[in-house]
Amino acid sequence: MDVFIDVILPVPIPQFFTYRLPRHLAELAKVGCRVVVEFGKSRVMTALVVKIHGNPPEKYPAKYIQELLDTEPVVTPTQIWLFQWVAEYYMCTAGEVMNVALPSGLKISSQSKIQYNPDFHHDELLTDLEKSFMDVLIREDSISYEEAGRLLGEQDLNKFLKSLVAKHAIILFEEVNERYKPKLIKKIRLHSDYATDENALMLLESLGKAKKQQEVLLKYLSIIPLDQLSEKNEEGIDKQRLKEAEVSDSALAALITKGIFEQWEVQVSRFDSLESDSLREIQLSPAQEAASDQIMGLFSTKDVVLFHGITGSGKTEVYIDIIKKALDSGTQVLFLLPEIALTTQIVRRLKRVFGDTMGIYHSRFSDNERVEVWRGVLDQKFQFVVGVRSSIFLPFSNLGLIIVDEEHESSYKQFDPAPRYHARDVAIMLALKMKARVLLGSATPSMESFYQAQTGKYGLVSLKERFGNAQLPHIRLVNMRVEREKKTLTKEFSSVLLEAIGQNIENKKQSIIFQNRRGYAPYLNCQQCNWIPHCNQCSVTLTHHLNARTLICHYCGYSESVPRVCPACGSPHVRSVGVGTERIEDDLREIFPEAGVLRMDLDTTRTKNAYENIIGEFETGEVDILVGTQMVTKGLDFDRVNLVGVFNADKLINFPDFRSGERAFQLITQVSGRAGRREEKGIVLIQTNNPANRVLQYIVDSDYEGFYASEIKEREAYNYPPFSRIIELTVKDVDRNLAQEAAEVLAKRMKDYLGEQRILGPERGLVERIRNKFHFVIWMKLEKEKMNIQATKQYLREELVHLITEKKFKSVQVVVNVDAV
Ligand code: ADP
Ligand code: ZN
Ligand code: ZN
Repeated sequence: MDVFIDVILPVPIPQFFTYRLPRHLAELAKVGCRVVVEFGKSRVMTALVVKIHGNPPEKYPAKYIQELLDTEPVVTPTQIWLFQWVAEYYMCTAGEVMNVALPSGLKISSQSKIQYNPDFHHDELLTDLEKSFMDVLIREDSISYEEAGRLLGEQDLNKFLKSLVAKHAIILFEEVNERYKPKLIKKIRLHSDYATDENALMLLESLGKAKKQQEVLLKYLSIIPLDQLSEKNEEGIDKQRLKEAEVSDSALAALITKGIFEQWEVQVSRFDSLESDSLREIQLSPAQEAASDQIMGLFSTKDVVLFHGITGSGKTEVYIDIIKKALDSGTQVLFLLPEIALTTQIVRRLKRVFGDTMGIYHSRFSDNERVEVWRGVLDQKFQFVVGVRSSIFLPFSNLGLIIVDEEHESSYKQFDPAPRYHARDVAIMLALKMKARVLLGSATPSMESFYQAQTGKYGLVSLKERFGNAQLPHIRLVNMRVEREKKTLTKEFSSVLLEAIGQNIENKKQSIIFQNRRGYAPYLNCQQCNWIPHCNQCSVTLTHHLNARTLICHYCGYSESVPRVCPACGSPHVRSVGVGTERIEDDLREIFPEAGVLRMDLDTTRTKNAYENIIGEFETGEVDILVGTQMVTKGLDFDRVNLVGVFNADKLINFPDFRSGERAFQLITQVSGRAGRREEKGIVLIQTNNPANRVLQYIVDSDYEGFYASEIKEREAYNYPPFSRIIELTVKDVDRNLAQEAAEVLAKRMKDYLGEQRILGPERGLVERIRNKFHFVIWMKLEKEKMNIQATKQYLREELVHLITEKKFKSVQVVVNVDAV
């Protein structure tokens, strides 16, 4: 009987594909194994087996797979279910989900290669074209399908190669490079014949003439001294250590060849660099203890518990307590963090408690490292994983608890490309499926989660005191209008803020300044003719970066150098307008020349360890002030920070989006929480033009519940989440009119189906043009109670196909974002 498999392919086509298994593999393949298949004409890709059966496909002849990569599954049945659930819910394909779920190290890069047959001696059989093709082959040794395709241009590649194969002129072979390579290190030890102090001494003497070799041996003996040789030689030393001691390579090689030294390889974990200093025991405070008990208690009746603990209350310690309990009961635990690079400190704290049993899944780690964690979870070597958003796709088999730290963070939502999933929400779904519990933690819970807690769907536990003697900081609004009138501003700094910073420098305390805008200034402006440089692909101004002497588009990355004179009128009076982090850093250096200033934003943290270095320097060094974007608002815990300054709070609050109030409350409360986390009470100074603003007043009072109560009324009145779901449709095209027309057609059809009031737009995108494409946005607001969400999505799917298959709209692209944030 023939055996067929259905596979998920990493392509945006919403179906499974069927391939045929060669007989000898029929017994070996299992659901969850990977195979290499040919897709389309000459594309080779990794696919995932989801079903094994005996039914040939009806519509096309099944091709054989090219290779079976695993004999044991690397993906679990639950994951296959999850891929499909995410695809269905977020309106994308299971292949797209698989694509983000599997680390690329598990997706092989594979190429068919073509080689000259050395036994071929019948040139007379070849056409001219074939001859010249063979010349290339002889010269190149082997070439890939792709290269052959390029060489032959319009020719039918398959037909051409078939003919050459038939003439025995060429050989085709598959070269599959699996990208995952375990990290190996070379070790060195003395042959056991020499591994006593006596024998080693004799050896040393006998090497007398070979000075260099003697040196190598001496170096070895300085690492493992003579008196420890018999017990420690066995485990040897890293070869690298000898190399670093700059002994002669050839002398070392000679000793190995002579059999005096033995060399072997061991596989090591890639996380040694993060090794814990020492494992640590924690004593919970009575309030923390109570919170932990309440959480555990609620888990007996609730699947999800929201843990609302103010900044500095020691949520991490409570998490640790709960993680231990879950691990003790024998289940796996996943700890989700919004962006692990931003939470180095938390990872370090967890590592100190859990040591090597903890896996770290991190967007900045290499593929190999991620594959190691994947396999570690699969083999249950890692019972506990700390990771970013995509770690919800790891192959857990026995998950008992998922913690979502900073659950309000919008970076849990993937924005681009598909799947546009929200890791917190997927975590809740996954936990339901695996009968695991979910703990959502935040000092500023999202409106959605707090609403679920208020209505009793989630359990709620609050921790309202800071750990130790620490108190919440004193938060003050600085009225910039008054300072402007009184002319007490220095550059963009209020006198109040400058004075406080100066005081802090004197007292050897540290300050954090938050400005949610990187670069030097948002734009340049000619004072003569009012010229302002814009991106030529996007409808935004170019941001001025002073150090790099460039103007950069923050949407598409386009950059150009700063003009010396205005290109429009030739005037030299071109001025930077507005304030970014780079300018604040510059100004602070100028105002306080003796102070140490550091900046943390996207521009200073591009390299792998930059973030850690900045934090390390701020923790220990002579730095007085840390200036940064959102990056400084999250998770940081420093002893000596007792002042936080907030620039441009009004910009955050007035952003045109129904979530801007919530965002501003969260961001400013979070950054305020960095101040005064130890004995001394901290101060927060918020510069604003509008101190009466409702959101700012709640921030000043540290009144989350008050803010929630006022905000939820507005959400209800206007039927925004959590009372509705939002599906955002972005219609894009290089032709503005076409994009607008397509958006209008789509909006009209959805209005006909759902009613006028549920569809907003189309409106021009907030940035109308990005990378030369015009954006029009439609919002679908679907009441949670009334609407059949599945039916609506199905209808939308059909309408999207309907739209894009209209000839006129062929070039139009529609991006669907379910639960847009
Ligand atoms: P949160 O995340 O709630 O803002 P953290 O977990 O960062 O607060 O805790 C604030 C500070 O208090 C940290 O430096 C932490 O190490 C310390 N801390 C909290 N709980 C304890 C405890 N039980 N024992 C020792 N230190 C603690
Ligand atoms: Zn000009
Ligand atoms: Zn641009």
